[in-house]
Amino acid sequence: MRLRIAPSPTGILHLGNLYSVLANVLFSHKYNSKLILRIEDTDIQRNKINAIENIYEDLNKIRVNIDESSKNPGLYGPYKQTERIHIYKFYIKKLLKMGGCFFCKCSFKRVNILKKINLLLGDPPTYDGKCLNRNYLTGKIRLKVPKTGICVGDYKINWSNVDMQVLWANSKPTYHFANVIDDQLMKISHVLRGRDWLTSFPKHILINSFLGFNMPKYYHIPLICNKTESKLSKRLDNMGIDSFLSLGIISEAILRYLISLIVCVDVSNISEASSYFNINKLKQQNIHINGKKLILINKMCLHEVVHDVNNVIKSLIREGCFNNVMELCVKKSLILHDTYKLLCFVFWDYKSIKMIFMSNIEYLLLNLLLIEYKKLIIWSKISIQNIHKKITNYLGLKTRTFCTILTPIIGNRHSISLYDVYLIIGQKVVITRISLILEKIYNKLHQHI
Ligand SMILES: [Zn+2]
Repeated sequence: MRLRIAPSPTGILHLGNLYSVLANVLFSHKYNSKLILRIEDTDIQRNKINAIENIYEDLNKIRVNIDESSKNPGLYGPYKQTERIHIYKFYIKKLLKMGGCFFCKCSFKRVNILKKINLLLGDPPTYDGKCLNRNYLTGKIRLKVPKTGICVGDYKINWSNVDMQVLWANSKPTYHFANVIDDQLMKISHVLRGRDWLTSFPKHILINSFLGFNMPKYYHIPLICNKTESKLSKRLDNMGIDSFLSLGIISEAILRYLISLIVCVDVSNISEASSYFNINKLKQQNIHINGKKLILINKMCLHEVVHDVNNVIKSLIREGCFNNVMELCVKKSLILHDTYKLLCFVFWDYKSIKMIFMSNIEYLLLNLLLIEYKKLIIWSKISIQNIHKKITNYLGLKTRTFCTILTPIIGNRHSISLYDVYLIIGQKVVITRISLILEKIYNKLHQHI
């Protein structure tokens, strides 16, 4: 069996595309089929620079393995439609000879007005067949659709409601023609694509039957729709993989979320998902992205990917504390960026300490603390807490106000708890940091005198 994914290089691969890509991946994994990547780039005006490269990169990011593509050609290339024009030319001539299409000389304007009127009347926008029997020898080439009868198959529709689709214009094929020819010549056995292609399906059936092709088995799978459920997910469904990564949602989570959506069970990898995969049991309704769920899966995945970040941090923290630090940070993280934020105490940089609120009071208080910390023999949570209690009670300070004053020592207020940080970085480092902060406040205060 052979399946294909056929993106156009016209933009980013968003969640909707990926859903359909992953349905193909699960099918091919389950039935040990070959997965082909075909680039449908005939709409040259809409093609974006670097988009083909981005498609490869994005698929790579979610670890989709492709068996055949331009980069790894098999027997049925080329895999880019713009390199196959000669093939389509041969088949459009054949289709003309078989009586499956005809030349049309109608202007774009005429057809456009016609379709608009159809819509106003509540009818499907279709071409009226004006040139059908004119036997023109030049012009656009349109598919010959029966005027009466019903298209049978998975999708029942009156032929009169099916448009006489343009198959060839400006010396090149349109999507519908190239797509059918390619699936045939690339020996694609199963096509899993979005339900948005369902209305075009009758046209594809016609082209296949005019040319005497063995049709692949088509499955029209649900689409991911625009309704979202949580604030963070506001535009998630239209976003590309890079946008997710930049939000701190890791590729592992995107993959896991989408395959779980396909098989309707929470699964952790492709091979587990493929064991649940049943093409006939895919949801029929369109799917809405649940941002909260995606983020929860992300939270779970973070536990498994922290080792990537670990090497950097290991160089900054004492080896013995390392696991403890990561555990504390990951526990409080929803997205990867949270982990970085929480780790700010590791990447402490006294140059970036905000001095806006630093006044004489803070200076004196930190001096007092420095003396007390230096005196401590046992550096433990209880002994540090006792010092803090003593000072806040004596000065009548609220714990919250007091902790704000200590924030510069741990980096920023997004860190893990103060005492955890203190124990991780140790007495010596805390004392050094306070000394540096004091020096900075001192310089600031004296600048203004
Ligand atoms: Zn016409």
